[in-house]
Amino acid sequence: MVYLDYAADTPADERVLAAFCETARRFPGNPNARHALGLTAKERLDRATARIASLLGVREGEIIYTSGATEANNLAVKGAALHNRKFGMHVVTTALEHSSVAGPVSFLQDEGFETDLAELDKNGRVDPDALRALLREDTVLLSVCLVDSETGVRQNLPEIAAVAREFPHCVFHVDATQAVGKLPVSAADADLLTFAPHKFYGLGGIGVLVRRGRVLLEPQMNGGLSASPYRSGTPPLPLIVSAEEALALALQNRASRLEQVTALNKILRRELAARPGVRLNSPADASPFILNLSLPGVKTEALQEALSARGVCVATKAACCAPGTVSRPVYALTGDRKAALSTLRLSLSHRTTEKELGVFLAEFDRCRALL
Ligand code: PLP
Repeated sequence: MVYLDYAADTPADERVLAAFCETARRFPGNPNARHALGLTAKERLDRATARIASLLGVREGEIIYTSGATEANNLAVKGAALHNRKFGMHVVTTALEHSSVAGPVSFLQDEGFETDLAELDKNGRVDPDALRALLREDTVLLSVCLVDSETGVRQNLPEIAAVAREFPHCVFHVDATQAVGKLPVSAADADLLTFAPHKFYGLGGIGVLVRRGRVLLEPQMNGGLSASPYRSGTPPLPLIVSAEEALALALQNRASRLEQVTALNKILRRELAARPGVRLNSPADASPFILNLSLPGVKTEALQEALSARGVCVATKAACCAPGTVSRPVYALTGDRKAALSTLRLSLSHRTTEKELGVFLAEFDRCRALL
């Protein structure tokens, strides 16, 4: 099996699994309970939160646990905009957002918010001058994806944050789901930052929202006590400890993994660029973990199926996009509907080998010839 869909999910590291199992065995109490088992669980929870906060360079009270990045994005986008609606009802985002940001932005639109998309340059980067012209006194939220999940386009956060700071009521949310654990990320640039450890060898079912101290949110769930007033529910201690382990491991090894993946990406780019009919959509400075291409005129869902039947797993778009629809990010980058209807997303890991890339390329050629 050749797996090239690491942007959708990564296999859990054995050490993460061990941390999960050990915590589930050793800490059966609810961290909110006031008896001895509850207090021991709470002590472990606080230790995990302190380490996660320290790894991210933020304070413990700024960490909110959710069920994944989708929930974290929903809480960030809806929570910030709804809480701040007394200051205005204008929201700005980009055409590169994951559906877990685009969806809540549509929800806000239905609630009467005015929404705008920031202008992108030819490489998909937010243009800071155009952004400054778009933001207003009544803009209460700017939401930007640090790394686009389909094309790997990376944004210049410090530059965007500096523009956002010129607008007093504008909360700056960064969806860093495809960046944390893989690329350098500075939480100091954002007011709200979201990610999920299952993208870097952690487990599914947990996400993190970093809420910088001064930002207030309207909770999206009612009832129940938790680790945070912004998100109720019993804190899932084994998952939280697994997130701590996954983040620590990912950050420990980030630089060497990035170097390995950059080399693999180079090979893949060179090989694919040499094939007729292949159009590479990811700009040269995109995250090396993601390489997006189009095969204009080809039904890439059929190609994906043929590759899968031969043991090669790739994506056409983000895993949660409806089949047969255009890729929004590729359309935003290329303005070409045909290209946006025929995308393939390859995503890499430090676990990917050159041999696997060779198998992929051979199967890619064979399956394309048969379609
Ligand atoms: N944001 C981005 C950029 C993503 O790539 C994804 C998942 O692919 C999500 C959010 C949603 O993550 P989750 O599956 O943890 O809800």
